[in-house]
Amino acid sequence: MLTFNNRTALVTGAGRGIGKAIAETLAKQGVTVICVSKSAESCGAVAASINASGGKAKALAVDVANGTAVAEACENLLKEFPAIDILVNNAGITRDGLLFRMSETDWSDVITTNLTSCFHWTKHLARPMTRARWGRIVNMASVSGVMGNAGQANYSAAKAGMIGLTKTLAKEFASRNITVNAVAPGFIKTDMTTEFVNQPEIAAKVLEAVPLKRFGEAADIANMTAYLCSEEAGYITGQVFAVDGGMAM
Ligand code: NAP
Repeated sequence: MLTFNNRTALVTGAGRGIGKAIAETLAKQGVTVICVSKSAESCGAVAASINASGGKAKALAVDVANGTAVAEACENLLKEFPAIDILVNNAGITRDGLLFRMSETDWSDVITTNLTSCFHWTKHLARPMTRARWGRIVNMASVSGVMGNAGQANYSAAKAGMIGLTKTLAKEFASRNITVNAVAPGFIKTDMTTEFVNQPEIAAKVLEAVPLKRFGEAADIANMTAYLCSEEAGYITGQVFAVDGGMAM
């Protein structure tokens, strides 16, 4: 067990995949989890399941790409919760394509949803953390943001941007005892990667680049994220942790 002292966390993209696993892992450790997703159904189902198994969760449907909606959500949450100590910026989308075929909409949708959303959530939720002199922020980057990936100019740029944001905020917030780290997953089995995982020929090609020769599980990412959110990780900040079966080494 890690130490959490009854903290409260907000996890974006908690309706499915990696975010769902993070929400469930934190809830099992006694953390109250605010589960954010785009659709009310997905975050509602995750929060209901956590509450049914004895944990504490609240569902919140917010489009993270909408800065005004995020600001309103944060204002309401900060009235309801005495503190939101942990922020996991995990919501993300892909709109893949080679650069010459990539529309400006596909570029900006990915940048706004994956990167600009982190700016908005962090701006609103980090201020009370500074007053409390305690906070944990984890940004879900990607191996694509570390190494680049053909067909993902928008996504790689967003994820590399998250890494720069992580390192800068780690420096800005360190004096307030807030740590800011990034996790860079490789190929993890979720809805986002179904097309790679479920087609044997494509899966075999992808796994050529993975030294551990398997796709990751959402729990692999959740375990690292939970550690970075715990008391035990209090001396770690500004780092990027690859959880990728060895892809980016
Ligand atoms: P996923 O299964 O597709 O789930 C994405 C989650 O993000 C869903 O809950 C979705 O909400 C939410 N979301 C997307 N757009 C949103 C928006 N505009 N507003 C609010 N919520 C939104 O994805 P995943 O594989 O778990 O990925 C989670 C994170 O890990 C992403 O940032 C992704 O880039 C990163 N990552 C994943 C992999 C991988 O191999 N899977 C690898 C590297 C990095 P709904 O449930 O309402 O649709």
